[in-house]
Amino acid sequence: MTLPNFAFFKDRIVPYSEAKVGVLTHTFNYGTGVFGGLRAYWNQDEKQLFLFKPYDHFRRFLESAKLLLMEFPYSESEIVQFTVDLLRKEKYQTDAYIRPIAYFADEIIGVRLHGLNPALSIVSIPFGQYVEDEEGIHVTVSSWRRVDDNMIPARGKIAGSYVNSAFIKTDAVRAGFDEAIVLNQDGHVAEGSAENFFIIRKGTICTPPVTDNILEGITRRTVMMLLREELGMEVVERPIDRTEVYLCEEAFFCGTGVQIAAITKVDHRPVGSGKLGPVTAKLRDVYFDVVRGRNEKYREMCVPVY
Ligand code: PMP
Repeated sequence: MTLPNFAFFKDRIVPYSEAKVGVLTHTFNYGTGVFGGLRAYWNQDEKQLFLFKPYDHFRRFLESAKLLLMEFPYSESEIVQFTVDLLRKEKYQTDAYIRPIAYFADEIIGVRLHGLNPALSIVSIPFGQYVEDEEGIHVTVSSWRRVDDNMIPARGKIAGSYVNSAFIKTDAVRAGFDEAIVLNQDGHVAEGSAENFFIIRKGTICTPPVTDNILEGITRRTVMMLLREELGMEVVERPIDRTEVYLCEEAFFCGTGVQIAAITKVDHRPVGSGKLGPVTAKLRDVYFDVVRGRNEKYREMCVPVY
């Protein structure tokens, strides 16, 4: 991966090489940070870079920070502006990924959340696809369980809880799968290692509710809205059993990184026809037009950088 040229660090944009923290930094030791992940899409016809739903991303980012008792003097709009400034400085004419992180900058020993000093950093990199083939991935059901709300809340994008995601992802990949579905403590499907999850069963499109230990995904909300508005399908939020995944017609993951990826096989069983299904295919077309600013109706979701 090529490193970024610049970083937003200590309230200003600096060369990436200057954005450094010491090894005693609280978040580096205890995982007490929160992060975000946004995409900016390059629109070649307009020669414009569009940040997709940055206000929603930074609202969740500040909410995740609030869970860790981090208080920032910045509003969502100010952080969007820092991001726009950073992307302008990088002069991207390609798709990019943006990684903000809020961390405790204190270089001390002592695990806690109170009485610490939060800091913000933002970097960006050119970025393409997160999974190789978004039109057909093979997933397994992870032997790991999703972190529970009373352990580390999955609704916050908390750095430390991504060790859970890392276990899930690595064991899936080493066993020859592209990704994994992870069950929560109740045995219901929660999500993927870094994606939200949907199935179509008997013609109804379903996704786990936000109380089933999922990250409240920005893409999940976008997808629910597009399915309603553009495909006339109302998504039902309800617990999903493992074996429903074996019997459903279509399944897909969605998230900023993965975008919309069709799940065509689960533990060597074909999902539906075993090929990219019609609803997922249509949704992908609609989604890519929206994120690149090509659909006038949803243009306000895309914030121009230049
Ligand atoms: N679940 C998890 C665990 C994630 O890390 C992500 C990626 N941020 C998602 C779901 C998808 O969320 P979003 O659509 O906001 O990127």
